[in-house]
Amino acid sequence: MAKKWIVAISFLTLLSWAVFSGASGTQDPKALIGTASKAIGAENLKTIEYSGSGSDYVIGQAGSPSLPWPRFIEKSYTRVVDLEAPASRMQRVRTQGENPPRGGGVQPVIGERPDTQVIAAGSPQAADLQEELVTALPYSFLRSAAAANDVAVKSQSMNGKKYTVLSFTGPNKAMVRGFLNSENMLERVETKIDNNVLGDIPAETTFMDYKDFGGVKFPTHIVQKQGGYPVLDLTVTDVKPNVPANITSQAKGGPAAGGGPQAAPSEKLGDGAYLILGGYAALALDFKDYIVIVEGGQNDQRSEAVMAEAKRLIPNKRIQYVINTHHHFDHSGGLRAYVAEGATVVTQQINKPYYEKIWANPHTIAPDKLAQSPKKPKFETVADKKVMTDGNQVIELYHLQDFAHNDGMLIAYLPKLKILVEADGFNPPPNQPLTQKPSTISPYTASLEGNVERLKLDVERIIPIHYPAGDRKVMNAELLTAVGKGS
Ligand SMILES: [Zn+2]
Repeated sequence: MAKKWIVAISFLTLLSWAVFSGASGTQDPKALIGTASKAIGAENLKTIEYSGSGSDYVIGQAGSPSLPWPRFIEKSYTRVVDLEAPASRMQRVRTQGENPPRGGGVQPVIGERPDTQVIAAGSPQAADLQEELVTALPYSFLRSAAAANDVAVKSQSMNGKKYTVLSFTGPNKAMVRGFLNSENMLERVETKIDNNVLGDIPAETTFMDYKDFGGVKFPTHIVQKQGGYPVLDLTVTDVKPNVPANITSQAKGGPAAGGGPQAAPSEKLGDGAYLILGGYAALALDFKDYIVIVEGGQNDQRSEAVMAEAKRLIPNKRIQYVINTHHHFDHSGGLRAYVAEGATVVTQQINKPYYEKIWANPHTIAPDKLAQSPKKPKFETVADKKVMTDGNQVIELYHLQDFAHNDGMLIAYLPKLKILVEADGFNPPPNQPLTQKPSTISPYTASLEGNVERLKLDVERIIPIHYPAGDRKVMNAELLTAVGKGS
């Protein structure tokens, strides 16, 4: 059956190639890149700054597994790209795009939130930038094409329009295809990128409505999609070619770019219960015959570090269960490593069909542990409540009601220690406890507190998965203060 398809597909590919290459004649790839560069004024372009407004959408942060990536409004957006370095600085002001707020990161955007992202040449993120730029701008696409040694040209029709397609192997080893229109202007780029949760996913950008800005033709409407849903929809109003870029690293930088083994220090919470720090917080619980981990964390690396520390603290036992708070990719990116370990994933029931579907995707661009040794995932699901116990150790899992951040959110409660483990409901400040009611109360925090009250949980200490820097203790009184119920 599979063979039949391959034969049929190959035949169709040959047929379309024969038809279209016959119609347009063969073009020299290098000459075509030159023509396409000239068409948009890219030949002497070293830097470009563009500004506008629109929407961005955060991949992996949907309010439920079945929804598109949640939207934020880019009230203002300016990005300068040094095409030669390469380097990039993006400055924007964002507001919440979903009403009521849904998904989209640790807390809803309240009011206007400025955001700056800098990637300097030679920084740890420079390789990611190189990869991103292939689909981000027509000029960087053409530069990548010019640098590739396997560029090919063919003609192809799409939606009734004829294009000349430039294809080559991109920096991540996936095929990149750029669609040039009859004026040799780049209208669309397609490739595949790695996402540690979704695997190989399509990434595509459409460049529309080119206008002239000082001799450079710039697309004034850019739409980027990843994994089938939009991640950026930008209307460009101003463009400055060859401005001095001066892109240098931010002093504090963003989240760690990974790489190298991570430290995973731990703290004993009580009898057979450990808190593992050094990344997103995780708990290791010593059950009679096995280990239970609460929260898989961001990625394979974090999972490896947590599993190693758990096995050190609780020797000679296997990791039988990993409890997953919710499907957001920063909380589910490490689950595949637990599946590879043979652990059963405990998650809210809406997540099971989603994980089963996406974990079957190929991971060829950046094969992870599970891709290297595939295993069928095992699940135990939670509807509203589940108690896990060996007669001594007890974990209670609850599904949060009316929690807009995520529909399938679980909290874990350790009744003996009066400890609550929660993700994205309450992210207290890193340095010192909240002592005053904040000027705006997060709806996520209010919902978490309301659920704790509804469930009549006797909480003393809270372990936020996004553990505050400095690893300070967070007590329940702080949650009450955060929702204006403090004494
Ligand atoms: Zn989340």
